Order: sequence, then C-alpha cells, then structure tokens
Amino acid sequence: MRNPVGRARGESRRGVLVLGAVALAAAVLAVLGYLSLRQWETSAELLFREQARDMARMAAEKVGMTLAMAEDDALAGIQELVARPDLSPRVVDDWRAGRPLVARAYLLDRQGRVLYPPAPSADDAELVARVTAEVPQGLWDRGGRRRLVAGDKIVLAAVVRTASGAQLLAALCRDHDRLGRELFEKTLEGLEGKSVVAVVDGSNRTVFASGPLDGAERVATAPLGGVHPAWHIAFYQPAGPSPRDTVRRQAAVFTGAFALLLVVIVLGLVASYRLVRRESEMARLKADFVANVSHDLKTPLSLIRMFGETLEMNRIADEPTRREYYRVITRESERLTRLIDNVLDFSRIESGRQRYDIVPSAVEPVVQEVLEAFRHPLAQGGFKVDVDVEPDLPEVPMDPEAISQALGNLVDNAIKYSAERRRLAVNARRHGHEVRLSLEDEGIGIPPAETTRIFEKFYRVGRSETQGRRGSGVGLTLVKHIVEAHGGRVTVESRPGGGSRFTLHLPLEPA
Ligand code: ADP
Repeated sequence: MRNPVGRARGESRRGVLVLGAVALAAAVLAVLGYLSLRQWETSAELLFREQARDMARMAAEKVGMTLAMAEDDALAGIQELVARPDLSPRVVDDWRAGRPLVARAYLLDRQGRVLYPPAPSADDAELVARVTAEVPQGLWDRGGRRRLVAGDKIVLAAVVRTASGAQLLAALCRDHDRLGRELFEKTLEGLEGKSVVAVVDGSNRTVFASGPLDGAERVATAPLGGVHPAWHIAFYQPAGPSPRDTVRRQAAVFTGAFALLLVVIVLGLVASYRLVRRESEMARLKADFVANVSHDLKTPLSLIRMFGETLEMNRIADEPTRREYYRVITRESERLTRLIDNVLDFSRIESGRQRYDIVPSAVEPVVQEVLEAFRHPLAQGGFKVDVDVEPDLPEVPMDPEAISQALGNLVDNAIKYSAERRRLAVNARRHGHEVRLSLEDEGIGIPPAETTRIFEKFYRVGRSETQGRRGSGVGLTLVKHIVEAHGGRVTVESRPGGGSRFTLHLPLEPA
C-alpha cells in the first residue's frame, strides 16, 4: 500500500502540472485571439476603404451620366431654338428662363461677334474672348461639341445652325450653385448612407456636399471623367464614431471579454488547485488521525492489560504496590474514556448531531472536578498547579459536562506540551458580560502563524515538535466548538518556548 503522504504529494504535483497545462493553453488561446482580432480589424478597415472607393466610383458614374444627359438636353434645346425663324434675344431669354441649370448662354457668329446677349457685360466679353480663342476652326467645319475650362467655369460650346443655314457658336455655361442643389442633390440622394458625398472641382474646392464636412475625413475619391474633367467625387467619413471606430470598439469589447474569460479561467484553476491541495492535505491529516488514535488507544490498553495480568497472577505481595497498580489501571481507563469521548463527540459534531444541555452552573466545581481527574498525571509530571477562581463568581449558562471536557482537553495539552518548566495556572474571572476561564502553561508554546490553524480539525503543529507526543488533532477543534455553542469564543496567547495561555470566554447572558 502506498503511503498517504506520498499519494498527496503525487496528487499536488499532478495538480501543478494540470494547472500549468491549462494556463499554457489559455496563454496560447489569448495570443491567437489577439492576433485574429488584429487581423479582423485590418481586414474590416480594408473592406471599408474598398467599399468607399466603389461607392465613389459608382457616384461618379451616376453624376457623369446625369451631367451628360443634361448637356445633351441643353444642346438639343439650343439647336431647336436657333433653328426657329423667329429667333430673337427675347426668345433666347425665354428659353433660358425655363432652364435654370444654364447660368449663361452666348451665340457668336464665325467672326466672333456676339449675337446674344445683345448687351454683353465686361464679364461676358472676357468669357467670349476665351471661348473664341480656344474653339478650334475645325469645330466650325466638322461640327460637334467642345468643353472648355474658363477660370472656375466650364463652358460647353457647340456649332448650331439657324433656319437660314448659317452657322453659329452656342456657348453655355453651367450654374454651379444650381447644379449642386438640383442635379447633384437628386443624383446622389440615397447613395451615401452615413457617409458624406461631395463633388470637388479641379482646385479642390467643394462644389456640393451632401452633409456638413467639418471634421470629416476623406476616405475615397473618384474622377468624374470626360463630362467634367478634373472634378472628383469624394467620400467623407463624418466626424464622430466611424465604422473603423465601431470595429475598434468591438475589438476592444471582445478583447475585454476575452481577458475576463481568461481571468475567470485562471481564477477557476487557482481555486480548484487550492481545493485539490486542501483535499489532499485533509486526506493526509485524516490518515495521521487514524494512526494517532489507534496508537493512543493501544498504549493505555497495553498498560491496563499488563498491570491487570500481573495482579491476576497474584505476584504482588505488598499492598501499596498493588494499590499503585489499581491506580494505573483506573487512570489509563479514564484516559481511554476521554479519548473515546473526544472521538465520539467529534464525529457527532461533524454530523451535526451534538447537543448541549445549557443550564446556569457554578464555575468552581467544574474546574475542581477537571483538576481532580488530572491529579495523577499532573502529580506524576511534577506540575505545580495554581488555581485562582474569583470568589462570588456568578453562575454561567453552560453544559458543565461539555465545559469540563473542553477544560480537560486544555489541561491534557498543557501536560503534553510542557518541557522543563512544569506549571499550570487556572484562572477564572468575570469581565463585564462574560466569565474568562484561562489555562496557562510554561510549555513549548505555539508559533504565531499556527495559532489559528491549531483549532482546525486534525491539525497538529509542525511534525518535529509534536512528534513523540500523543494526540489526534481534534482536541482544540472540540474546545472551539463547545465554547462557540455557548455563544462564546476561545483565544490563545502563546510564544514559542514561552508557554501558552488558552482562554474560554463564556457569556453570562445565554446566547
Ligand atoms: P492534539 O491531539 O495534537 O493535542 P489539539 O487539537 O489538542 O490536538 O491541538 C492541536 C495542536 O496544537 C497540537 O498538536 C499542538 O501542536 C498545539 N497545542 C495545543 N495545545 C498546546 C499547548 N498548550 N502548548 C503548545 N502547543 C499546543
């Protein structure tokens, strides 16, 4: 059979290994999780930019098409107009009034004379001069249309024919404002979603924007192409949370949740590791307990048997020796009874079956009774016993039997854990609403770190000091349980090598 300590050690080593393996797996998981989150963030960003570029391209196509249609429409209109026999400035004025997109219209003959408007302004004259300079002769001969950039204006020029067959150059200039308001707005409506779409001219000025551009970030552009050379459609991400921010936020939330998960896993692992360690420690303590109790049972039994047999054989002639043998038998039987009572009470406490019969009782008789029961062991150990019970101590609500068992355990410990200086002081005093019953020895003492653990079941202080001293590790557990059942508590003051004082605090009012 493997010994329980070895088994416990093996178990805790296995526990450490499992803990390490799971912690490693959790760390790998954390790194992988972090990497895939980063990747997700990058691909979301790429996707977002690509989508914005596609949208800009689509918008540019749509705007280009609409503009081309508007141009066709305007040119067809002016051709029809010029072909009218009653062509006059008034007729052109009327036509323009119905076409808000045409900001300015000019009709020139081949010699560059301005036929419309009848009274050109200085602005008009400048524009006309540029048009005549830039329109190639070929246009007059071949016909067709031509787009010219004059300053910030785009002029559409085409050769048209009058009713009499004469050639005229029609130059139409778009109204940017209206273009924005009426044409871009309608064309780009419903396209942008949350983004802002803008039309930007050659010098990067915004001709039209579907929303406010303050703080917005340009994410993609697409050229308008032939209809409006040098103009662009620009896609903006408005100020405030962008899809990228949303992705980042989501990534942060995931990272947080993941970290939390890892923390929970680690905490769970640590908790189960501690539980396993506690369990194996408990298994070890239980095994010690069984060994100690068996040993404790065996020693008095051997003594009783040996002295009993000697007496039975009638070998002892003198009376005082015989009496001494009888005393040993009685003493050892008492020790056996105490041990068995302790074990039985402990098992009753463990199963929650222990009951106490608490009645107002005097303290002194209980103290005397316990000291009397230990008279022999105390005397044999050479103990000097001082008892100081305050006179007129009130009665205390208690189960006298249980309290004497607790005191008995304390006296037994004082005897067991005393070395050269053998003194026992028993003290009972009233302090406010409680009676303090203390037992002080000058024995080996208890290290400060152990003073709470000694009350745990099966717990015995460090192997070397207690080794050789019989004990089961449940004596103080019983003491603690008994006083707590009386609504009190037990305290200990001790110094290694300097002795210990255990005090039972028993309340005067029933709990
Ligand atoms: P045990 O049967 O081992 O005496 P207890 O529960 O009575 O079990 O005590 C627990 C441990 O507390 C003991 O093993 C011992 O190490 C320590 N202890 C208890 N009383 C004293 C004391 N008076 N002096 C020194 N150590 C003590």
